[in-house]
Amino acid sequence: MTAYKTPQTLDLEALAIKENLNLPEGLANLKAKERAAIPQQEMPSQEAMARACNMEEVALGYTDNQVIVEASRCLECKNAPCVKGCPVSIDIPGFVGAAAKGNFDEALEIIKDSSMLPAICGRVCPQEKQCMETCTLGKMKKDPMQSVAIGRIERYLADRGSSKESKVDKALPTGKKVAIVGSGPSGLTTAADLARLGHDVTIFEAFHKAGGVTVYGIPEFRLPKSIVQQEVDNLEAMGVKFVYDYLIGRTRTIEQLMNEDGFDSVYVANGAGLPKFMNIEGENLVGVFSANEFLTRANLMKAYDRGNAATPIYQSKKVAVFGGGNVAMDAARTALRMGAEEVHIVYRRTEAEMPARVEEVHHAQEEGIIFDLLTNPTKIIGDENGRVTAIECLKYQLGEPDESGRRRPEAIEGSEFTMEIDTCITALGNSSNPLVTGTTPELNITKWGNIIVNEDGMTSMPGVFAGGDIVQGAATVILAMGDGRTAAKGIHDYLTK
Ligand SMILES: Cc1cc2nc3c(=O)[nH]c(=O)nc-3n(C[C@H](O)[C@H](O)[C@H](O)COP(=O)(O)OP(=O)(O)OC[C@H]3O[C@@H](n4cnc5c(N)ncnc54)[C@H](O)[C@@H]3O)c2cc1C
Ligand code: SF4
Repeated sequence: MTAYKTPQTLDLEALAIKENLNLPEGLANLKAKERAAIPQQEMPSQEAMARACNMEEVALGYTDNQVIVEASRCLECKNAPCVKGCPVSIDIPGFVGAAAKGNFDEALEIIKDSSMLPAICGRVCPQEKQCMETCTLGKMKKDPMQSVAIGRIERYLADRGSSKESKVDKALPTGKKVAIVGSGPSGLTTAADLARLGHDVTIFEAFHKAGGVTVYGIPEFRLPKSIVQQEVDNLEAMGVKFVYDYLIGRTRTIEQLMNEDGFDSVYVANGAGLPKFMNIEGENLVGVFSANEFLTRANLMKAYDRGNAATPIYQSKKVAVFGGGNVAMDAARTALRMGAEEVHIVYRRTEAEMPARVEEVHHAQEEGIIFDLLTNPTKIIGDENGRVTAIECLKYQLGEPDESGRRRPEAIEGSEFTMEIDTCITALGNSSNPLVTGTTPELNITKWGNIIVNEDGMTSMPGVFAGGDIVQGAATVILAMGDGRTAAKGIHDYLTK
């Protein structure tokens, strides 16, 4: 049975009596100092030990009351520094203010002016490094985690809105055909904007399901797949066509789409799906996986649903995940849910330098993931059957800052030790897959293989646009979505001017 934590909810009734308030109007009339004193509303979530055994969503979402109270913490700053922290400049004080008054529909409309995927972004955006980092309230409290919980409010509004039927205004057909390569957040956003403008949009997707990393990478317990599917269904209802199991660069090239298949423009949003490895001895042993493969099997092919899964998954007892980002946290927490007895995160810096979202690190720790910090594997050891049995590691210390500003990890001589392990998962980041760029020599790329675009999102090939991770390198959902918006505008201008 799933156990739930009691949310630390401010008792609205008690507050109303104490302050002689009419709710929610009364809360909105509080002075700035009184608002700042309201404690941040804790997110109700599944109990750590219960959730470590199931794939259901960890965070359960605010209640109506919690959302009003949390939104009432906003100080309505005139210069709105939170908006400057948001990569797509959502009118945060606008939607938070509407939510504080209980005007939830209006609040959602304000978000949708800038963001097409609020239910996804409300769940996975690294808010503490974006809008919450610049929020005045967090600055007053000297802790971005104590800022207005902007993402939690966004998530509530999106979830509430998704249960309602939304009417989409579509322009008359323009007769122009646009092909989109990849159905991740970037491709989906461009498709929505272009379909609304009356263009005929087809998305070509290599996998058998749409959603990109939000479906094959980020696990169900962080982002339920039904939320992504809802966006795909909405697009289909708007007339967007999805072609699955179709590999651009192999089945057809960009050049063929443009010159033979009648597309007037192409948007390349094929992400950064090529995993990086450590190039250490033993990486070819049985029991070593890239996080991409492990998560794709678990998420997309639903390996966790053992009876009905489309693929098997390695049965692990002791797992070591190499890396400190979101991908590493997702792989470690998934391994735990797949039945591993012990899961280690092996990372060569300290927790402060970890690129993963603070909330995900915290959740992983609560669930019992062991963090071996300032540690790096040097060798993977196998038995006579070629199966992983252990890893050899070195201990590290932090030295002077490197060019990224982070203190450089330095190996401590003579600190070698061995850890018994039967599975290794590498989560060291991804780079761009060369399939599309390799078959389209007209595309200018960086030395890392990322496509170069101008401010409208157009590449060096007229009519071909690009965005998301294939341009930015492995980045975030909101940046991919923002690029999709920019490119949709660029494509529309290209097709109509
Ligand atoms: C495990 C994991 C966890 C993450 N967690 C977070 C998080 O918490 N917060 C956050 O903001 N970001 C997170 N990210 C990053 C985020 O998911 C990406 O930045 C974002 O999905 C990029 O979107 P995109 O549309 O550019 O590409 P993708 O989401 O990668 O989608 C690209 C799509 O193109 C398809 N494709 C590839 N090649 C071809 C081809 N040749 N032909 C046709 N189709 C093709 C792929 O199958 C895929 O569906 C995470 C990434 C991973 C891997
Ligand atoms: S910075 Fe924080 S307190 Fe100020 S308007 Fe934005 S969300 Fe509200």
